[in-house]
Amino acid sequence: MDKLTVAQARLESAIGKIVLLQGWVRTRRDSKGGFSFLELNDGSCQGNVQVIAEAALPNYESEVKKLHTGCSVSVEGLVKASPAKGQATEVPATKITVHGWADADAYPIQKKGATFEFLRTISHLRPRTNTFGAIARVRNCVCKSIHDFFQEQGFLYVHTPIITASDCEGAGELFKVTTLDLAKAPLLPSPPGGEGSGVRGIDFHQDFFAKPAFLTVSGQLQAEIFACALGKVYTFGPTFRAENSNTPRHLAEFWMIEPEMAFYDLDDNMSLAEAFIKRIIKDALDRCPDDMKFFQERIDKEILARLDGILKSDFLRVPYTEAIDILQKSGQAFEFPVKWGMDLQTEHERFLTETHFKKPTILFDYPRAIKPFYMRVNDDGKTVRAMDVLVPGVGEIIGGSQREERFDVLEGNMKEKGLNLAHYQWYLDLRRYGTVPHSGFGLGLERTLLFLTGMANIRDVIPFPRTPGNAEF
Ligand code: ATP
Ligand code: MN
Repeated sequence: MDKLTVAQARLESAIGKIVLLQGWVRTRRDSKGGFSFLELNDGSCQGNVQVIAEAALPNYESEVKKLHTGCSVSVEGLVKASPAKGQATEVPATKITVHGWADADAYPIQKKGATFEFLRTISHLRPRTNTFGAIARVRNCVCKSIHDFFQEQGFLYVHTPIITASDCEGAGELFKVTTLDLAKAPLLPSPPGGEGSGVRGIDFHQDFFAKPAFLTVSGQLQAEIFACALGKVYTFGPTFRAENSNTPRHLAEFWMIEPEMAFYDLDDNMSLAEAFIKRIIKDALDRCPDDMKFFQERIDKEILARLDGILKSDFLRVPYTEAIDILQKSGQAFEFPVKWGMDLQTEHERFLTETHFKKPTILFDYPRAIKPFYMRVNDDGKTVRAMDVLVPGVGEIIGGSQREERFDVLEGNMKEKGLNLAHYQWYLDLRRYGTVPHSGFGLGLERTLLFLTGMANIRDVIPFPRTPGNAEF
């Protein structure tokens, strides 16, 4: 007897095998002829195996006829060709063992049409639905193709720290990591002027790391260390941002892929980003055809045509300044009025990629003032070698840049942005000793999944979403 997954048992090659299948009942249907059909699913694929349970089974009346959605079972039987449409095989059972019952009145996910909002309140059970099973499998496929893509091209996988003392962007979006008792935190001495003259800061010298520490918002700066020694590297790990933006595109904990390459300029960086996204799409279509078909039928009727179109076309490369011009001449009533120097909002990004260009678009050469200190300054002195990749359905999916490799310019940028240079000597050392032109970018894994599946809310493409006011389990 072979222990098979449902995916294996659905293949014609399984016909004639005596098998053991284990999973959860999706539905039971009783036939007038005195036998029952069970649809069995084990998460290995979108489809079920149809199990035929004859009345002759010793537990037919006592157990089989009481099975319903959510019950767990083992089934033994001989796989046969199925006369029914839509399935190659079926399994007449010689034995059915019930492992766990699921009270039909109480089990919360048996009805079709449960909203995603409702399912978010039971994230311990939602992986048992078709949609969340499909998302989990596609997410797994994307992670594999990310590693495949980089490994095949000789990139080194580097683990950058999750706890860090440096704030990559200088943005106030950091989660603090501390073992201090907040109610009794040690305070710095009173400021000059005596008691009550000012707020006393916390004395982090007494904290675990003897200084303030945070959850990382990006592994880029540390990835640069390795790129400036080993060439082409990437990090792939969890990233944390305490941004209080309750949008369908932001999580407080998300996964980011950050390649960093020595001797890459911005054009090389764009080409890599385009090849990378196309590879992820192609692998999802090739390796998860049933799940992708499911998204097409149930979530977004345009998804397959859109992804196919993207594979066939070149990404556009458009300077920020030109994009501003297009937006201003568009006649669109945007919530945020468009002017040169502003950071683009999702509404602008989506207009450009969905309505105007109708294809993935890489915007580059952004205003220096809205971008971080490490981006390479252009000769105009006003813009930096930044790039954002915008895709239909999502907007920004990648943010990246060519990094400033010139010591003096970088140091000037840091001073201008008010950074504490003492904290960044290690970063300046990369320019002090054997500096090289280099570039990199960050791709958000969950944004990629929104884009691939057509799902509308980022909370539904990560197993356990963390958002303001919400951290279950
Ligand atoms: P946005 O403007 O959309 O907030 P960002 O400019 O802050 O994005 P970057 O700092 O460039 O984003 O991060 C690189 C990528 O990480 C983004 O392109 C996006 O795919 C992803 N990302 C950024 N913030 C989040 C978040 N809060 N939740 C999920 N993904 C995110
Ligand atoms: Mn952000």
